[in-house]
Amino acid sequence: MEKREELYRGKAKSVYKTDDADRLVLLFRNDTSAFDGKRIEQLDRKGMVNNKFNAFIMQKLEAAGVPTQFDRLLGDNECLVKKLDMIPVECVVRNYAAGSLVKRLGVEEGKQLVPSTFELFLKNDAMGDPFINESHVIAFGWATAEQLATMKQLSLKVNEVLSQLFDDAGLLLVDFKLEFGVFHGQIVLGDEFSPDGCRLWDKETRKKMDKDRFRQGLGGVIEAYEEVAQRLGVSL
Ligand code: ADP
Ligand code: UDP
Repeated sequence: MEKREELYRGKAKSVYKTDDADRLVLLFRNDTSAFDGKRIEQLDRKGMVNNKFNAFIMQKLEAAGVPTQFDRLLGDNECLVKKLDMIPVECVVRNYAAGSLVKRLGVEEGKQLVPSTFELFLKNDAMGDPFINESHVIAFGWATAEQLATMKQLSLKVNEVLSQLFDDAGLLLVDFKLEFGVFHGQIVLGDEFSPDGCRLWDKETRKKMDKDRFRQGLGGVIEAYEEVAQRLGVSL
């Protein structure tokens, strides 16, 4: 496999073509952004931690029957993935109220949600990733009704698998964001799963162990990511 030119530079990762038209290299950088890219800082070791964390989670999901982009790790900061036609929609599952849900509905942070909720946001930084519903996705052609049903079913499956995995490590999976794409006609989980795109609280103390430490200026961001990785048994 040969790494070729940069295809896209996002806020936290860079995407490269390879000599295989079906494969891309994802490079996890140390850049950490919040508020739709309005605040960006470099956090030492973050690229490496998220790359290895993501590899670990994607492999667990694949083993549980969720089709993922993940092919293999290439080094500390890079992995090889399937090249997906990305669907520009973020799927968010929530088990406890936090973040934008608390702001939008004025509910108490930490309230357990039964059943878990499933929400959709348009992936568009310029518009501030607006909240959308299922009929918008279909009416604007971002995905078909069938693709959307699969994305929802897979998101809830991911929630089942990962809630248990984090629970075993003494952590609450509060909420998370997934992105899907299409690979040879099949809906496949893309992008990444790391503490940048989910909320994780210590089960006993409710200490925040995710990107909220960065968003809220709490400090100890990478130390928290590393502790989560260590509790799960991810080798860094
Ligand atoms: P952003 O675009 O939100 O700034 P990143 O910095 O994480 O995010 O950039 C990674 C980009 O690569 C995202 O736009 C994501 O949708 C895209 N991407 C992730 N996985 C794949 C994949 N397997 N195939 C094609 N594109 C992908
Ligand atoms: N999330 C993300 N990228 C986004 C928006 C949200 O990874 O562009 C994640 C976020 O980390 C959290 C979940 O999705 O785990 C729900 O986020 P929320 O809607 O509460 O928005 P936020 O408070 O992050 O703005």
